[in-house]
Amino acid sequence: MPHPFDSPLDRQADDSPQNPARRSLLAAGLAGAAGVMASPALSQVATRPGAPAISRNLPDVAIVGAGAFGGWTALALREAGARVTLIDAYGAGNPRASSGDESRLIRLSYGSREIYTRWARKAAELWDARQSEFGRRLYYPNGSLRVIREAELAPQKAIFDRLGIPYEAIGPDEVRKRWPQLNYDDSPHIFYETTGGIVKARESMIAVAETFMQKGGKVIVGHAVPGPSASGRMAHLLVNGEPLSAGLSLFACGPWLPKVFPALLGDRIRVPRREIFYVGSPMNDHRYRWEHLPNLSDLDTYTASDIDYGVKVAARLADMPMDPDGGDRMPTDFLRQQVRDYVARRMPGLKDQPIVATRVCQTEYSDNSHFIVDRHPDMANVWIAGAGSGHAFKMGPVLGNYLRDRMLGRQTDPAEDALFALAAHKAAVAGG
Ligand SMILES: Cc1cc2nc3c(=O)[nH]c(=O)nc-3n(C[C@H](O)[C@H](O)[C@H](O)COP(=O)(O)OP(=O)(O)OC[C@H]3O[C@@H](n4cnc5c(N)ncnc54)[C@H](O)[C@@H]3O)c2cc1C
Repeated sequence: MPHPFDSPLDRQADDSPQNPARRSLLAAGLAGAAGVMASPALSQVATRPGAPAISRNLPDVAIVGAGAFGGWTALALREAGARVTLIDAYGAGNPRASSGDESRLIRLSYGSREIYTRWARKAAELWDARQSEFGRRLYYPNGSLRVIREAELAPQKAIFDRLGIPYEAIGPDEVRKRWPQLNYDDSPHIFYETTGGIVKARESMIAVAETFMQKGGKVIVGHAVPGPSASGRMAHLLVNGEPLSAGLSLFACGPWLPKVFPALLGDRIRVPRREIFYVGSPMNDHRYRWEHLPNLSDLDTYTASDIDYGVKVAARLADMPMDPDGGDRMPTDFLRQQVRDYVARRMPGLKDQPIVATRVCQTEYSDNSHFIVDRHPDMANVWIAGAGSGHAFKMGPVLGNYLRDRMLGRQTDPAEDALFALAAHKAAVAGG
């Protein structure tokens, strides 16, 4: 029996008929087509200690993309008893993926979009539970300080009051008293939410994929494209040119979705470039660490406090399109200076500290910043999920459960389903 942490690439790279990964890929294709039990290799996987038994009542599932949408969905479906294959062109947590940065934030205040406040609160609970299960620290609950316009304060408070989520509305004097390392003299209204915090991004996606494998899921490092369709269904996917059959497929390809479905999504999702800078904490000065400092959310940028990687500061630039495969990932001097100016103003004690790491990512925006989760209009057994619109990472554990239920035909909230429907997203979004 293969070790649960064996490299899926090593097994996949051996293309000989003796290679179990190759045998199971072909067998999965044949088994799916004939609707019969799959290969010995796949059956073996299901007998691993702790792996949920494979339910004969559930379809085999292929998921393309091991990011926040695909990785968590693969895990949830495997835990529900489905036989699941997770395919990623560059591997879980890879640096091209939108989920491949060091960290992401869990923030609950979403203006008037209450659904995401509810989801983010649930997500924070699930992150806490999952990190215990995974046996590694992934969630740092330090809350956040958000600069808020006066007109938005009352509606935001109303949502938090209705949902019973703790918060404080404070001003710059109170900030100075509690966090003297900050300067908020330019911001009269600050919304302090104590729930939420920071999650490790890349490491979480690796942990999800590893747990998925430990529970009997199969991971393939390879490039997948939709295969031919007949009678309103996709006959099979093509993984590195080879057919892979599955009763259900999910394309959770993040910023690659417009490339995978150009006609359907080419003008529904835009992919702009983003730059992130990590500013080092001074040695023996712990005031900028997550234990002592909430994350900061300003009108034009945001930070994540230091979780042993420096203080993360996001830079903003007018949208420039990014190719997730070939795009250059070196930061610009212009944005580096913008970050330096922001740090000098907001956290003067970090003014002369070095930038210790950078990351160039991309986001995948829909026209209205709502996610897209829907069936493919021409292939009933194909699902599409993505358009994280700069805020989906935190939702991963909730998204996984939601997509599991949608794909298995279980009851979900019709209002949420409608919000995420393809029909609710206008084509021809501006920019990238
Ligand atoms: C700078 C920045 C800051 C952000 N901050 C936050 C935040 O603080 N909080 C938050 O919640 N969210 C945040 N987000 C948004 C969040 O990171 C994304 O919404 C989320 O990671 C998207 O996940 P995904 O699964 O859709 O895409 P991805 O993570 O990109 O995953 C897609 C995967 O699909 C694979 N793939 C694509 N095409 C194929 C193919 N044809 N075959 C095989 N594999 C394929 C890729 O290799 C990739 O691994 C931020 C995003 C950015 C860029």
